[in-house]
Amino acid sequence: MAKSVLLASPHMSDEGYELEYINDAFRKNWIAPLGENVNEFEKAVGSFLGEGYPVALSAGTAALHLAMILAGVKAGDMVFCQDLTFSASCNPIAYQGAEPVFIDSEPDTWNMDPVALEKAFKFYGVPKAVVVVHLYGNPAKMDEIEGLCRQHGTVLIEDAAEALGSSYKGRKCGTFGEYSALSFNGNKIITTSGGGMLICRDEASAKHTLKLATQAREPFPWYQHEEIGYNYRMSNICAGIGRGQMKVLPLRVQQKQAIFERYEKNLAGLPLTMQQENTDGVCNRWLSVCLIDEGCPVTPAVVLDALRAENIEGRPVWKPMHAQPVFAGTKYVTAGEKSVSDDLFERGICLPSDSKMTMEDVDRICEVIRKVF
Ligand SMILES: *Cc1c(COP(=O)(O)O)cnc(C)c1O
Repeated sequence: MAKSVLLASPHMSDEGYELEYINDAFRKNWIAPLGENVNEFEKAVGSFLGEGYPVALSAGTAALHLAMILAGVKAGDMVFCQDLTFSASCNPIAYQGAEPVFIDSEPDTWNMDPVALEKAFKFYGVPKAVVVVHLYGNPAKMDEIEGLCRQHGTVLIEDAAEALGSSYKGRKCGTFGEYSALSFNGNKIITTSGGGMLICRDEASAKHTLKLATQAREPFPWYQHEEIGYNYRMSNICAGIGRGQMKVLPLRVQQKQAIFERYEKNLAGLPLTMQQENTDGVCNRWLSVCLIDEGCPVTPAVVLDALRAENIEGRPVWKPMHAQPVFAGTKYVTAGEKSVSDDLFERGICLPSDSKMTMEDVDRICEVIRKVF
């Protein structure tokens, strides 16, 4: 059996930083819930981003849910959300009993199309919030999207779950909009085994986030509750992993970018195009993704089958939310006649992008792909 290659999997530091921080928590008997690792992990992310007030949580999905609550999204409200994404971007809209309206992508960055967004404001009025995503780490057209949200007076929520280490016009992803969500799930560029973070723009919002994430206890001698709370805080053990992982984040970005560049070089000449980086930004290349040229008879399924036969894991790109049975009947706005997200789904492939891969692994994968064409 050929050596197996994964799409993206946890990659601990060679130095063993993560285990040191976990051991430290054990030595101090500081297993849960709070402790030094949580505080220091938040500080490390905060200083990496250079701005914002981070709150460490149990998942990126929890961060997006609390962002909805802080944005004041309630039952019956409307929220605009990028159509081409992972379901966790929009599930929190449903948790709140609010109504999502999906916004199509543009073909340059694969993210929310500002033209479709503007159309949605015209058709449906001002939503409670807008959720933008940096797909596969590629920054969205933030000037246009931030501008439209400001102009219409709505809250922008940035789903930067895939984009830690990316930037747009020199600003790090995770610092845009009113609230930014990060994920440290096992498949992301760095992981805490499972976890997330909400980045707030002011200290009061961060304090409110922390209170909501820890059962919304009021400062009374007894357990007093004046709003509905959640159990969404990150554990001190997971945060220890995160502290160690932050030390290798720049290295992971370099490794992911090197994998992407190798694909781009090796696959040149084939009827496919690698995802183009936002010309105003830097992509962390969390996943290397490509698009089979229009009119080419080879489908992503054929390429993925050929990879699977060699013990190599690839994936189709995210299936658009408007095409998901669970969101059947949801409003969906495109800029033109045709859905861009449907087209990206039909022709797109997520190539193995595990930072533990060697360049020889990438070369082997490219040979398999070359044979299919
Ligand atoms: C992974 C991911 C999330 C959810 O993060 P979890 O930590 O797994 O809950 C949200 N949005 C996007 C775009 C993601 O890729």
